[in-house]
Amino acid sequence: MVVFLRIRGLLSGTHRGKGKLALRRMARNICTLSSREPLRMFTRRRLLAALAIPATLPLGGCWEALGLMNPCANPGDPGHRIDPALAARVWTGLDPRQVLDLHVHIAGEGTGPGDPWVNPAMRSLAHPFSYAHFKLMANAACLGDDPANWSRRYVSRLAVLADEFPAGARFLLLALDGYHGEDGRLDRSRTIFLVPDDYAAGIARNSGGRFLWAASVHPYREDALERLRAAAANGASAVKWIPYFMGIDPASPRCRPFYREIAKLGLPLISHGGWQHELVDGGVQDYGNPLRLRPALEEGATVIVSHCGMQGDFPDLDVALGRKVVPSFSLFARLMDEPAWRGKLYGDLSAVVLGGRQPGALARLISNYDWHPRLLNGSDYPGPGIVAVMGLKGLVEEGVLAAKDAERIWHIQKHNPLLFDFYLKRCLAWKGERWPASVFETRRVLRNAGAD
Ligand SMILES: [Zn+2]
Repeated sequence: MVVFLRIRGLLSGTHRGKGKLALRRMARNICTLSSREPLRMFTRRRLLAALAIPATLPLGGCWEALGLMNPCANPGDPGHRIDPALAARVWTGLDPRQVLDLHVHIAGEGTGPGDPWVNPAMRSLAHPFSYAHFKLMANAACLGDDPANWSRRYVSRLAVLADEFPAGARFLLLALDGYHGEDGRLDRSRTIFLVPDDYAAGIARNSGGRFLWAASVHPYREDALERLRAAAANGASAVKWIPYFMGIDPASPRCRPFYREIAKLGLPLISHGGWQHELVDGGVQDYGNPLRLRPALEEGATVIVSHCGMQGDFPDLDVALGRKVVPSFSLFARLMDEPAWRGKLYGDLSAVVLGGRQPGALARLISNYDWHPRLLNGSDYPGPGIVAVMGLKGLVEEGVLAAKDAERIWHIQKHNPLLFDFYLKRCLAWKGERWPASVFETRRVLRNAGAD
């Protein structure tokens, strides 16, 4: 869910101050550009601000003309043939049976108690920013315009995308618990998405081993430990948190019994690290500070910091007085370099290719041999399908992607964002160095990740 970070701050400052009129004008200007004049007038930041204004809808046709909407093509469509030499290079040295994408979001809506749920604000024009987020996600997941039954379409599209991987490759579907108050009770008004454990488990169960699932349990719940045990008994492979979305302070002493339980059950905790888009009323950004996860490590839990904490800045909690605000990635790096957590602390590579990352951080992730055994690939699907915020140009400019490779892989995003993210990560290089197979063969880290 870090995929929207590139839109961050767009409605702050001048944009918010000047209101809808200026943004409407900006969007109109964008639509009158010819598609051969690709947005030279606008910085990406300003363009995205316009995209985030549903008051200017319907813009769908305009976005498409500018190549900013996912066209939701299918494998084999004209222009979507994958270069066999590239495919051979990408899969050389990998055992597909060990390959696992450990960061795949699912979402949906239903009427039953076990169904997933989306806050109505995400679907309402009265909340333009939330609405724009939802629209971009829906387009990335190719849900189409029909609001009915989109849960089913979400899963069937995902299955088609997964089937383009070699047999044996697996994907970890993430449940997501809701926002809970200090009293340990669910607060739907502050919950953005809710994906119950049983919903994720059910999809995994019917997938023939393609999909695994991660439970999501809020640690302040009265029945938190019971739920963890039930999830483990039901075959969960990990536990997922997004502390900002869920209202969890990972450093709170009340989380310690939870950490001890997941350590006992062998369930790794995949916790969002870094800044998160501000969708929660009164949400606390600092809950994404990687240093807040130390108590989990102290209790012996395995911790996977999502996105390697790549986005945003946080106070340095290790300094008692006069705390400086430092890049989140530096705090993640500090934890990674603490010898005590070797073999326990990992970083996931989902969304590390997005703009807004700390300069040089991606090159460091690629070239730091010492970290390689502790880096795990994930896509943050449907994130890589958000065409408007995911470009390759910045990666080429940074020197981590060869222009020739960018040319060969860009079209994959339009028919299979999951595969696109994988190819992209396999192509990244810094001064000739690449991520080794172990970064992609991540099954070893999860609990109950299938036989063989
Ligand atoms: Zn995510």
